[in-house]
Amino acid sequence: MRPRSIARLLRAFGPVWLRRPGTPRRAVVALTRRCTCRCTQCSSWSMEPGQELSPAELGGLFAAMPRLAWLDLTGGEPCLRSDWLACLEAVLDNTPSLAVLHFPTNGWFPEQAAAGARLVRARRPDVELLVTVSFDGPPALHDRLRGRPGSWDAAVRTWTALQDLTGVDVFVGTTVGPDNRGALEELGQALRRELPGFEDHLWHWNLTQVSAMFFGNAPSAAAGSGTIADRAADLRLVAQHLRRRWPPRSPVDLMELGFLVNLRAWLGGEPLGMACQALHSACFVSAEGWLYPCHVWDRPIADLRERGFDLRAVWAEAEALAARRGAVALECGGCFTPCEAYPTLVGSPGRAALLTVRRGLRALRAPAPSAPPGA
Ligand code: SF4
Ligand code: SF4
Repeated sequence: MRPRSIARLLRAFGPVWLRRPGTPRRAVVALTRRCTCRCTQCSSWSMEPGQELSPAELGGLFAAMPRLAWLDLTGGEPCLRSDWLACLEAVLDNTPSLAVLHFPTNGWFPEQAAAGARLVRARRPDVELLVTVSFDGPPALHDRLRGRPGSWDAAVRTWTALQDLTGVDVFVGTTVGPDNRGALEELGQALRRELPGFEDHLWHWNLTQVSAMFFGNAPSAAAGSGTIADRAADLRLVAQHLRRRWPPRSPVDLMELGFLVNLRAWLGGEPLGMACQALHSACFVSAEGWLYPCHVWDRPIADLRERGFDLRAVWAEAEALAARRGAVALECGGCFTPCEAYPTLVGSPGRAALLTVRRGLRALRAPAPSAPPGA
């Protein structure tokens, strides 16, 4: 990440260390619920898609977040929208403060993903562009978990197409859960063998999340949301991954290190010790334009389309403030997913640094983890 991008992030996030800003500095915005995959851990593809925000509406949404510095576009599969490039234009034309733009892809749309990346590079050379291509297991397992034969080969094609572009940071994203815990070593070997330019520090992990409104994998909002973990097994895997990724070589590596070190402590049963940024400096907007605290907690705040995208007003209302208090009190059930953990670390940098160093030293002193069952 270039120094000017770090400076822009600091300018955006510095004030939130002292007070709640009038509009979000960081957002996750879903472009669609539709998806070409049929994953076992996510049922976004089976949810009834509502009326997605049009590019013009997205323009209105982003114009209402003038100090937005960090944006994750997500889905479903964002690249499947026929107006994908127009959606990106709506972002790029209405986010003057943007420093970091990230989108994930399941890999089925190499041309669209690359065209989107080229558009961002041409229109906004000042913005850091990060793209995550999802790989959840070695080839046969990946295809089975994605519910669609050919998914591995498609993801390799997308990785290769993006790697060929200048100024695009491409990562592998893996959701760790019961179906692939025993196959991560084999996945690492396949990534090293088949992805040009792949190195272990480009491999990002997430634990399976539950959310009725986003992943569609909880029966109802009342059933709760959060992170699914087999704490003992995941703790061992995370400890191994920390060693695999060491040492950090970039600000993104440092952020991932902070995430993994604190995830390891959280899996070990420690309270996280840092409040998330949901509805403080961060938020989630669904594909249909509903504002939520984050992409996990099923607590709708307002229909922004119906409110004319007056986010500043909605942000200051009692409902948003009550939900913020609920997030701090962990009424949501709590979570620790990178989408929300990175802003958590940035939102409390002093405390995050202290906890990360303390927990990191403890992790270094811990005996090397044994292989997980089934590996
Ligand atoms: S995890 Fe991603 S690729 Fe799989 S169904 Fe959900 S949105 Fe699609
Ligand atoms: S801890 Fe924060 S980010 Fe996680 S589910 Fe609760 S409100 Fe969302």
